Amino acid sequence: MKVLKFGGTSVGSAQRMKHVAELITDGEKKIVVLSAMSGTTNTLVEISDYLYKKNPEGANDIINKLEQKYKQQVAELYATEEYRQKTWDVLNGVFELIRNYTKDLFTLFEEKVVLAQGEIMSTNMVANYLQEKGVNAVLIPALDFMRTDKNAEPDPSYIREKLKMQLAKYPDAEIYITQGFICRNAYGEIDNLQRGGSDYSASLIGAAVDATEIQIWTDIDGMHDNDPRVVDKTSPVRQLHFEEAAELAYFGAKILHPTCVQPAKYANIPVRLLNTMDPTAPGTLISNDTEQVKIKAVAAKENITAIKIKSSRMLLAHGFLRKVFEIFESYKTSIDMVCTSEVGVSMSIDNTKHLAEIIADLKMYGTVTVDQDMCIICVVGDLTWENVGFETRVMDALKDIPVRMISYGGSNYNISLLIKEEDKKRALQSLSDTLFNNK
Ligand code: ADP
Ligand code: ASP
Ligand code: MG
Repeated sequence: MKVLKFGGTSVGSAQRMKHVAELITDGEKKIVVLSAMSGTTNTLVEISDYLYKKNPEGANDIINKLEQKYKQQVAELYATEEYRQKTWDVLNGVFELIRNYTKDLFTLFEEKVVLAQGEIMSTNMVANYLQEKGVNAVLIPALDFMRTDKNAEPDPSYIREKLKMQLAKYPDAEIYITQGFICRNAYGEIDNLQRGGSDYSASLIGAAVDATEIQIWTDIDGMHDNDPRVVDKTSPVRQLHFEEAAELAYFGAKILHPTCVQPAKYANIPVRLLNTMDPTAPGTLISNDTEQVKIKAVAAKENITAIKIKSSRMLLAHGFLRKVFEIFESYKTSIDMVCTSEVGVSMSIDNTKHLAEIIADLKMYGTVTVDQDMCIICVVGDLTWENVGFETRVMDALKDIPVRMISYGGSNYNISLLIKEEDKKRALQSLSDTLFNNK
């Protein structure tokens, strides 16, 4: 069985939902994971923000607008009044639930419930649409099988067992529709897998049912060799190793959520990125195969801070790095890049919540300097160290750009470079021109 996930833009309007319905009704049994309609989760975050700030009027304005939008989509989606009414009954319940929170105490717990409503609405809309068309489609609630444990990590054995029970309820169904993103936590409360987490849902579901393939459908023809939002003339990459995809996703290629890679890789299930707007395009296949001696793609991650600690005490000493890393660990701050010399070490972080405390603690061991508004550029491909010439090509592309750190050798799949955020566009464009000849 295949698992297909459609992102926010793919279900962004009644029109798009009809298109998805057409794509998935081919007689093959499948699980379909849906995001919320594009913009909805952001709107729900905004509503929550007003509720935290105890401004029910502000919240109500946005709730009303969102409700209007959904009314219009429901009117457009169905052919019969029966299905319009049936769907609106569910959506009306959702809006009532959200409105009730404008009268009550609002905490993190209520926010999670509000954020879950986007996926609840989109899945009900699509499942009802398919049923109206006579397709044997059923809605299986993610809240009944998707669960995280006490460390907020997904619980694979629970998911497998409960999902199987849900599927077994409808042995003849052709299409099982379910929500991405949402889950319950170890205490049974409604929670989520973080923003963009529908990809993760699809991957966890794929692993749970031993899927033959996990398809991530979005609004672009697969993973591109550079960020199409920044660089002109990018091309789709047809094949990626899981590790390459993970590096790209983590370092800014938004098309795939980084968490999505691990369950699929572990279960050895290929992930295919496909384009809803152009369903016959080949997209990108992500698997455990490597295409040898090839630079594949470039991605960039912004809002990076570089911290350097220099100390003559580090010379010929041991245990220095441990002391430095322990400081980061004590503030639950993860390090992305590390470069060392005999007298100093530079690290990059993206979470600056505890920057002041980290700097204060590091000063016990050496002289500390900080560079803010930096950007990691990540070049991905078969960069096994025996291959020659790759480093030169990358550095050549960046010959006019100041580079703060270079990291290579941590994996066979990437070189990371730290530059100023203001140089990002120039660097990406130049790498695109030099490495992929996308001139
Ligand atoms: P969805 O709602 O379907 O999950 P997202 O908005 O999360 O879609 O991600 C798709 C977007 O990611 C694309 O429209 C594209 O602009 C952007 N993107 C960023 N980097 C890349 C890349 N390297 N390749 C393809 N798309 C990328
Ligand atoms: N709807 C959620 C979000 O916008 C999850 C997702 O689309 O992946 O973050
Ligand atoms: Mg996404």
